[in-house]
Amino acid sequence: MPTHHASPLDAELNPPTHLTDILARVRALHRDEVVPREEALKHRLEDERLFLDADGKLHPEIIAARRDIMRAAGKAGIYSAHLPIHLGGGGLGRTDMIYVEEQVYGYGCGLNPALLSWSEGATPRLLYCHDHQREQFTQPLVRGEKTSLHAVTEAGAGSNLFDMKTHARKRGDDWVLNGSKAYITNAFDADVVQVLAMTDPGAGRRSFTYFMFDAREMMGRGYRTGRLYQTMFGDGYTGELFFEDLVLPSSAVIGEVGQGFDIAVMSFNYTRMRRAGMCSGWSKYLIERSLERVQSRQIGDRPLGANQGIQWMIADMYLDWLQTRSLSLEVARTIDNPGPWYALPRPKDEIRRICALKLSNDESFYRVADRALQVHGGFGVMRNNPINKLFQIARNLRIPGGTDEVQRTTIAETLGLRFDTSKSQPVKPIQ
Ligand SMILES: Cc1cc2nc3c(=O)[nH]c(=O)nc-3n(C[C@H](O)[C@H](O)[C@H](O)COP(=O)(O)OP(=O)(O)OC[C@H]3O[C@@H](n4cnc5c(N)ncnc54)[C@H](O)[C@@H]3O)c2cc1C
Repeated sequence: MPTHHASPLDAELNPPTHLTDILARVRALHRDEVVPREEALKHRLEDERLFLDADGKLHPEIIAARRDIMRAAGKAGIYSAHLPIHLGGGGLGRTDMIYVEEQVYGYGCGLNPALLSWSEGATPRLLYCHDHQREQFTQPLVRGEKTSLHAVTEAGAGSNLFDMKTHARKRGDDWVLNGSKAYITNAFDADVVQVLAMTDPGAGRRSFTYFMFDAREMMGRGYRTGRLYQTMFGDGYTGELFFEDLVLPSSAVIGEVGQGFDIAVMSFNYTRMRRAGMCSGWSKYLIERSLERVQSRQIGDRPLGANQGIQWMIADMYLDWLQTRSLSLEVARTIDNPGPWYALPRPKDEIRRICALKLSNDESFYRVADRALQVHGGFGVMRNNPINKLFQIARNLRIPGGTDEVQRTTIAETLGLRFDTSKSQPVKPIQ
């Protein structure tokens, strides 16, 4: 991987001194666990055809390297730094996590994101797992030894959870699950499935329940994966799932029966808050690469960056980064203050601020990525370079975790602009 020069943006990160040790551990992990693997897999990371296997799925060597990094980060206390200490996490609040995340993502888009748990790992749903689920699921996920998937979206139900068709019916002590899920991250390699289903249609927010089970144990026994989606950023691990008379014991429930909606909202909040450090780190990376490019690229008798039109693009990228980062830190501060962000239910004001955080991060990162690509000229358009890859990722981020429009709608609704809720949340009978 190329060595980059010290950046004028580094001094602006200004992390609090109590994070000095953990940030040093992140740097050491990156140097010892990430960089050597990125060098060994350079040919795969720099060529999307080799990044995937013959079926278009993530190449097993990339999966193995990511898992090695996750486990190493788990041992070093980084991977689950966002979770409370009683669960085996690092106990960091959201503000502190922004500094950790932006350091991790500031390395770019190689294998570095595997240093931190994301939607395939130790998500806050684990906080609602029961003691009997601890050994098989919770602890291995917290330690980065297993991966999971989070199945909510369906082909006919994305932005509105109440359109969901996947349902679980009680049969004796068991639940029988039927339905399908679409666009699911880590569909093919997950060890653990976490799926949201309707259990009591018509009960409003009490209509849903989360279930968790071992993917390999249930594969072919009522659970199966479907097709792989070819995403625009060629991730090779987004797919379809099917549940066909899948029998699960009552011990498979996460939280309580009927608590699924609230746990889902808490999960979405987490995913949305997670954008802060991710988009800040990646935006900073793109601004730094753009600065290097416009200083080194000669056009005519002077560097590209001597042109005012280019300077203003760089200035606008900086402004987007600074504004959104400041907003994120302010929102995180207000979330950290009243107490744990994962306690249920969440106050409306907080949900609104988290939506504002996601929206601002996704849209400003997209603008930064667009300008970064522009100042890189033809090179930026070519596939298989980090500028182009991050542009594709930036475009994608505006869809999952709630689209830009869902964030705006939620902001407006929590400001009092909610009309005719019976129509906006139709309740469908189980078929
Ligand atoms: C790469 C990727 C990974 C994903 N991973 C997961 C995963 O791991 N687990 C999971 O459960 N899901 C996952 N998703 C699904 C994702 O959460 C949904 O795609 C997203 O919520 C949008 O749902 P939809 O695709 O059905 O779009 P739709 O709901 O059909 O929306 C289409 C468009 O209409 C807009 N829209 C919808 N309602 C309104 C409204 N009321 N007002 C104005 N505009 C509106 C939307 O903003 C969007 O622009 C993933 C998606 C992608 C692309």
